[in-house]
Amino acid sequence: MNDASRYEVAVALPVRGTFTYSGPPSAPCAPEIGMRVVVPFGRRPATGYILGPATDTREDILPIQAVVDTTPIFPPSLVPFFRWLSVYYLYPIGEVIQAGLPGCIDAGIAWYYHITEAGLQALAEGGLKENHRTALQALASGKTERSKRTAGMKGRAGSKGVSAAVLNGLIRKGYALREYRLEKDRVRHLTETVVRLSSDHAPGTDGASSPELHKIMETVARYGEMPLRMLKKEAAGATPARIRKLVDQRWLELDKRIVYRDPFGEMIDPEPLPNLTEEQRIATRMLSAAIGNGYEGFLLNGVTGSGKTEVYLHACRMAVAKNMDVLVLVPEIALISQIERAFRARFGNRIAVIHSGLSEGKRFDEWHRILHKEVHIVIGTRSAIFAPLERIGLIIVDEEHDTSFKQESGLRYHARDMAMVRAKLCNAVVLLGSATPSIQSFYNLSIGKLRQIRMQNRVEDRPLPAIEVVDLSVRRDTRGTERFITPELHQAMVETLDRGEQVLLFLNRRGFAALPVCAHCGLVLRCRNCDISLTYHQQEDTYRCHYCGYAIDGSSPCPACGSPKIKRLGIGTEKVEATVKGLFPAARLARMDRDAIRGKHTLLNLLKDLRNRKIDILIGTQMVTKGHDFPYITLVGILLADQSLHFPDFRAAERTFQIISQVAGRAGRGEQPGRVIVQTYTPRHFSVVSAIAGDYEGFYWKEISYRKRLSYPPFSSMAQMLVHSKDPRRAKDHAEALGQILHHNRTSAEMRQILVMGPIQAFVAKLINQHRWQLLLKSKNRRALHDFLERTMFENPGMFHPKQIGVAIDIDPVFMM
Ligand code: ADP
Ligand code: ZN
Ligand code: ZN
Repeated sequence: MNDASRYEVAVALPVRGTFTYSGPPSAPCAPEIGMRVVVPFGRRPATGYILGPATDTREDILPIQAVVDTTPIFPPSLVPFFRWLSVYYLYPIGEVIQAGLPGCIDAGIAWYYHITEAGLQALAEGGLKENHRTALQALASGKTERSKRTAGMKGRAGSKGVSAAVLNGLIRKGYALREYRLEKDRVRHLTETVVRLSSDHAPGTDGASSPELHKIMETVARYGEMPLRMLKKEAAGATPARIRKLVDQRWLELDKRIVYRDPFGEMIDPEPLPNLTEEQRIATRMLSAAIGNGYEGFLLNGVTGSGKTEVYLHACRMAVAKNMDVLVLVPEIALISQIERAFRARFGNRIAVIHSGLSEGKRFDEWHRILHKEVHIVIGTRSAIFAPLERIGLIIVDEEHDTSFKQESGLRYHARDMAMVRAKLCNAVVLLGSATPSIQSFYNLSIGKLRQIRMQNRVEDRPLPAIEVVDLSVRRDTRGTERFITPELHQAMVETLDRGEQVLLFLNRRGFAALPVCAHCGLVLRCRNCDISLTYHQQEDTYRCHYCGYAIDGSSPCPACGSPKIKRLGIGTEKVEATVKGLFPAARLARMDRDAIRGKHTLLNLLKDLRNRKIDILIGTQMVTKGHDFPYITLVGILLADQSLHFPDFRAAERTFQIISQVAGRAGRGEQPGRVIVQTYTPRHFSVVSAIAGDYEGFYWKEISYRKRLSYPPFSSMAQMLVHSKDPRRAKDHAEALGQILHHNRTSAEMRQILVMGPIQAFVAKLINQHRWQLLLKSKNRRALHDFLERTMFENPGMFHPKQIGVAIDIDPVFMM
């Protein structure tokens, strides 16, 4: 840094811009970019992040109070990315950084108060003010030596009964000291003990004194090195005492190894490279020419089963060979195991994995392994976009159309969009892959923002599944199970099971019955906290809210008229399971939805059982659509294809097309050809028709002309403002006041350019006891919309951080409910 005495600091508070501080009066090491510091901010200390040297030359600069880290926790190359996010999403930069760091690193800074000698003396002498005396007594007894996190500065500095003001008073008097410490890091590498032949064990001397010892030596010799745990299994006599003895005699040695287990708990053998298909070869050639030559964006548009993963692996290998880091983003934890497995088979342990399913300690580990350049490949879900890789050469976004790349709280970023930004900032190649590209990405091809790589054939010329349609609208009167397991589907299931193959049934609704209605008065049972009907769950015999988890007993009477007779209309995966069990009593069933799958383990076991053909029929929600490779599924039944079509959202058709195509794509991925049966009430809707025909472009051209006509994205930019409060009146009033400002703060040019819609009550008008209102802004000019919002926020800060009311700004909203 040129001026070592002044630093630009991002403060982890909801404030605009960055701040300048001078160097700390005393610190074990000078602050560097990416280190955390404690800085005075207003009347309290705050967590800050060093972004670089400051150019500010003002006189009255306060010093940094403490430097928390001894080494940076993010690399300098992330700073421009953080700045970019802050500007684009109108989000305070310190909070952007906080959102990007793993929670355990952000654990925050703790500060501790201690009583000083002078304080002890003052206490002994007496005559202190009452509140000072109690505070000092608490400090003296050690009770107040407690920590408080600075993260967000929501907590108060003091402890029970001792206010920050009193403690600050004591510090000024010299009676107390404040000390900053890092909240204890929960670092823990997962290690296991391995055993191997001792290096000074001379061959030929293995006249082990007993058959047991001999057996142990023999086993270890066979493996060279093996986990102790495994030795105990393989050699029956391998007791701790015997192993100890062999170690003492220097025949064996023990060591600690950091373990990275295959998600399936199996050893992963290096896999030979398959011969690429012609399309894969062309794809890798295009990528190879681009990697290492600056920014370029690609859209790998390859049908399901065309072997996109293999292209990712090759691209990754090329980047690694050029000494560059690679970031791989996947939509769901569920998919990580599959991609991770493929990457580990090729790249061994040179991989870090980041997702929300990891324990805090594990996430901390992974962050540090990346930071310390132990790994150069990172695989993760959306938050991995912040991975502290220093020299990114390639960013891969698998299933780029997936909506789970969008963060829906706090910093509401879109990881796919940010992948393009981060790639651009580090001159890297970005590779978006999908069989059903988002409208936005496909549109980006036409305006030259992305280049297309097409793969139109499945590997080994496997055919795409044949899709048949069953029109449900002509059998509206059908009652009972035939209503959702139609005779056509039933017949196909019988045939498939007879051949010993697997069936997948898809319904995007979990639970048993989605619409509990009072038989007497017609009331629909709703959640007490949300404006949403409850879903009956048979297994636990409760009515449950899918938004907040609120549940009432399955035997509850109607809250309005007290009638005990509640009809359970609508279907969910549980009801499908019960029905299928009745139809196929001998079949082995499994359900894959958020009720059945809790945690990564149950999911992995299920995937394993599927692969080992221990499951005949899989019933699942959208969890099954996410790119899984199920080689033995030959029949896919989509029970209700138009479920997603009726949401009040301009992307409803896009989602419907994606879901049908993706679910259908799970069929016939192995040796046997696949068959798909789509049941729908709207067989003639263009999203259904083109999904069935496998006609992405046909779908795209219809959809894009509709977007253009109504000037929806990508022909405009949108921003949503969501106002919520416990108090319905407050929420409404504040939304209206915001609406007034937004409507009237526009210049005459902005009047023409920016449309302000609302406020209206949100589609989900009440969620977890919060009443919700929304405003929607739309403009064909992204810049104008951004500048208008920024100016409005700057001029009306109180309106955007009001008390007891939440105001969330969502740039490029994906869910408008
Ligand atoms: P996609 O992601 O495009 O749907 P995958 O990458 O999952 O497809 O590949 C589908 C299947 O084809 C996988 O089982 C994969 O191992 C296999 N595969 C991919 N490329 C080849 C190849 N060149 N030769 C043989 N098998 C391949
Ligand atoms: Zn009733
Ligand atoms: Zn609820």
